[in-house]
Amino acid sequence: MDQGGYLNKIFRTIEKYRLVEKGDKIFVALSGGKDSAAVLFALKKFNEERDPDFEIVGFHINLGTIGSEKIQEIVEKQCELAGVKLVVFELKKEGIDLGEIAKKNRRPICGVCGVIKRYLMNKIPRELGATKIATGHHGDDILVFFIKNILGMNYSWIGKFRPKAESDNPKLLTKIRPLFFVGRKENEEFVKNLGVPYVQESLCIYFKEKIKLYEKTNKWYDIIDRLESEAPGFKERLLNSVIKMSTYFESEDQLKFCKICGEPTNTEICAFCRLTGKTKNSKL
Ligand code: SF4
Ligand code: ZN
Repeated sequence: MDQGGYLNKIFRTIEKYRLVEKGDKIFVALSGGKDSAAVLFALKKFNEERDPDFEIVGFHINLGTIGSEKIQEIVEKQCELAGVKLVVFELKKEGIDLGEIAKKNRRPICGVCGVIKRYLMNKIPRELGATKIATGHHGDDILVFFIKNILGMNYSWIGKFRPKAESDNPKLLTKIRPLFFVGRKENEEFVKNLGVPYVQESLCIYFKEKIKLYEKTNKWYDIIDRLESEAPGFKERLLNSVIKMSTYFESEDQLKFCKICGEPTNTEICAFCRLTGKTKNSKL
């Protein structure tokens, strides 16, 4: 797909699902990878070309592991090229050690990493005035996740499969996914064409922990790619169907507020506080 066609698809998604509004302050969650870089540059181009006038801020969590400095450098470069401000949250500086938490809780490190990143990606931007958070989730991700959940008879996520996961909880930021209708290969082509540097996820020293999951996901990517080449338009039709289906599965969980940190959760004490052993007097 040429760059114009790619951006048009994203712009259509932004407009149709009202992902941005005038005056928004949108934090883009940047991992250093190609997908989050693609969302950063696509939003920037949308802001320039369609002029809805919103603010874009890059947000990166430095995991404090080997390789994190290199990843941060690349994120800094991405933001410099995009001409946007970058906010970096460094786990180590805040006394959060992923390896130690995983060991203490006997949990896989990638699971711990996921919980911590999800928590901070909502809390920190919100405290800094964000109105929304944009992520690099793309159509291939969504389809594979959807198929895996359907096969596992897990329907609780379906209500969240939309370009915009709106929140009516004042402490939970609305999430936007401008890349909902484009795939991973198109994202890569887009950032490569722009000359934007990016890192492979495998740069994280813990990547080997989730290599099996990664390989399985890649197999599913191949399957949906084959279906797309056999039946062009398959992905887009299924994605539209997923959005329609999500309206029948509106999220039922009434979010409460964590008894320790006050952040939104559906349990008494949120996963972040349980993992980190946070108390009411902790700094974070
Ligand atoms: Fe986190 Fe690294 Fe695991 Fe990715 S591979 S989830 S960055 S610990
Ligand atoms: Zn909590």
